[in-house]
Amino acid sequence: MILDSKIPEGPLAEKWDKHKFDVKLVNPANKRKYDIIVVGTGLAGASAAATFGELGYNVKAFCFQDSPRRAHSIAAQGGINAAKNYQNDGDSVFRLFYDTIKGGDYRAREANVYRLAQVSVNIIDQCVAQGVPFARDYGGLLANRSFGGAQVSRTFYARGQTGQQLLLGAYSALNRQIAYGKVKMYPRTEMLDLVMVDGKARGIVVRNLITGKIESHSAHAVVLATGGYGNVFFLSTNAMGSNATAAWRAYKKGALFANPCYTQIHPTCIPVSGGYQSKLTLMSESLRNDGRVWVPKTKEIAERLRKGEITVNDIAEADRDYYLERKYPAFGNLVPRDVASRNAKLVCDEGRGVGSSGLAVYLDFADAIKRDGQAAIAAKYGNLFEMYAKITDENPYERPMRIYPAVHYTMGGLWVDYNLMTSIPGLYAAGEANFSDHGANRLGASALMQGLADGYFVLPYTIGDYLAKMPYDKVPVDHPAFLEAEKNVVDINNKLLSINGNRTVDEFHKALGAIMWEYCGMARNAEGLQFAKQEIRKLRDEFWRDVKVVGVNEELNITLEKANRVADFLELGELMVEDALHRNESCGGHFREEYQTPENEALRDDENFAYVAAWEFTGVGNDPVLHKEDLKFENVKLTQRSYK
Ligand SMILES: Cc1cc2nc3c(=O)[nH]c(=O)nc-3n(C[C@H](O)[C@H](O)[C@H](O)COP(=O)(O)OP(=O)(O)OC[C@H]3O[C@@H](n4cnc5c(N)ncnc54)[C@H](O)[C@@H]3O)c2cc1C
Repeated sequence: MILDSKIPEGPLAEKWDKHKFDVKLVNPANKRKYDIIVVGTGLAGASAAATFGELGYNVKAFCFQDSPRRAHSIAAQGGINAAKNYQNDGDSVFRLFYDTIKGGDYRAREANVYRLAQVSVNIIDQCVAQGVPFARDYGGLLANRSFGGAQVSRTFYARGQTGQQLLLGAYSALNRQIAYGKVKMYPRTEMLDLVMVDGKARGIVVRNLITGKIESHSAHAVVLATGGYGNVFFLSTNAMGSNATAAWRAYKKGALFANPCYTQIHPTCIPVSGGYQSKLTLMSESLRNDGRVWVPKTKEIAERLRKGEITVNDIAEADRDYYLERKYPAFGNLVPRDVASRNAKLVCDEGRGVGSSGLAVYLDFADAIKRDGQAAIAAKYGNLFEMYAKITDENPYERPMRIYPAVHYTMGGLWVDYNLMTSIPGLYAAGEANFSDHGANRLGASALMQGLADGYFVLPYTIGDYLAKMPYDKVPVDHPAFLEAEKNVVDINNKLLSINGNRTVDEFHKALGAIMWEYCGMARNAEGLQFAKQEIRKLRDEFWRDVKVVGVNEELNITLEKANRVADFLELGELMVEDALHRNESCGGHFREEYQTPENEALRDDENFAYVAAWEFTGVGNDPVLHKEDLKFENVKLTQRSYK
């Protein structure tokens, strides 16, 4: 298979404009002859479906929640980046492009990232026009704050609820099209297979989550905007329903899966507190604008703290180690996430961690409160402080927050070309479901930017180019390809329901999560990864022998829903391990212990690994085939990342 990224020729800054001119257009009167399926109504899917509807296409949109506005995007807290340069602090499209390429540790495509930086400015205008209540400064202009990996302030925000406000904007746009009859919405409906006819994506098979009815939907193109797969790890900051099933089943139909091992572990989450926890809570990166990260200078002080012999406020200033400020004076507490997480792990491994488990560091606002006053801090982060207090029963205005890294985002995803088309013609992937823009590490506030860029500004152009070359013919849902896919879905459900074993779906999910976190988490090595591969295979066999799925298909059955998702995680986990094992270098969120500098920084191997690893399915339990897309850097120089 030849991987053609379809990056347009010409200078970087002109590629997208030129491409927009070169692509074919669909006449407005002909758009109503084409049907598009959009799976997912988070920021990427809702913005795409609304825009396709506005353009005149017939759209069917699907989500498994009871309303499109409950997509996981609603949880996003801190903000959305855009190269508006309102602060006049030196930002530009090129600087956002550069920061993103560097932040991703030089493992992303230049052309995609530059386009993302270009359209970032349009996103803000679009959202303001929709009425998204971005924070404003005293003069009424939109305010910005800083996020990791950047030395300018370019993050637009709505307190700590940016995702919610952006999603309400996209949801209003979507609802307008639903009211016009251009978008038909299918909530509580889960895609369980992709249907291909003559080598092209032509539809999906879904399960109605209320009645259990299996149905097919046909279209001229299918967009998967189904989010990320961080829940492979069981514990993550993702919504508990977030899953990989749509993308995974597309992978099993031939779509390549790119860079699956690139997982983002976010440095500032509320630490794990016990074995019965099912979710972790993020404390937004925006808090690192004012909060200072530290641990006790010595192991002895940390030990006394853990034993309860002293409290945090007893530790003298001279006994505190603000390790990020000390090691990275240029970026300080605002180093990128992978660097901040790795350093938190390092100090905890040294025995200097805090909290009863020793797996936590402090995020301290005392200086900021002294400087700006409590009211100013509350105005910026009030809801986050409240959330922290409710979960931990500790007042973060009076004592530092305890935080620790947690799985948060997946940079890997379905491989897509410049048009966001997967390796299956007519199948597109958008938002966190694709691999496209963040390389080996995503910068904070760039996921919302990418999801909305894909949905509002990229897909509406590129999908038209594909459709303009397609006949109008519709494939009926009684076509053999649909019937076969439906049978496949029914067979899997029946199999899951018939095992009647002894262990719950959650037990298997937790066991998988423990393997993934231990051997394919913040630090990995070849021996551990080899072991993990065998353990996952064993666990998968046990799952198919011993899982207990209660209830029947013909009703609301959340155990059956989850069993399908965990079955897919058990396969995806193995691919993540395989990818991590083959990448004999460290880059961004992929930290192989064998490849590090003397200062414990990630040591890349550009000569051998400056490529996208795109994997092809060859059967469950068989080794997948690796396809490489070489990354060319013509506008930035590959260097060892430095935030010092
Ligand atoms: C706690 C938290 C805070 C964050 N804060 C920020 C931030 O401040 N800034 C930032 O840039 N990023 C942030 N992120 C990341 C960002 O929120 C996500 O990457 C982004 O919202 C993903 O959007 P999406 O549209 O791709 O997918 P999602 O919002 O995850 O939506 C997925 C959609 O797909 C649907 N779906 C999935 N599978 C199926 C299926 N099989 N059938 C039918 N429907 C399906 C779901 O129902 C849902 O509608 C945060 C992430 C977390 C976890």
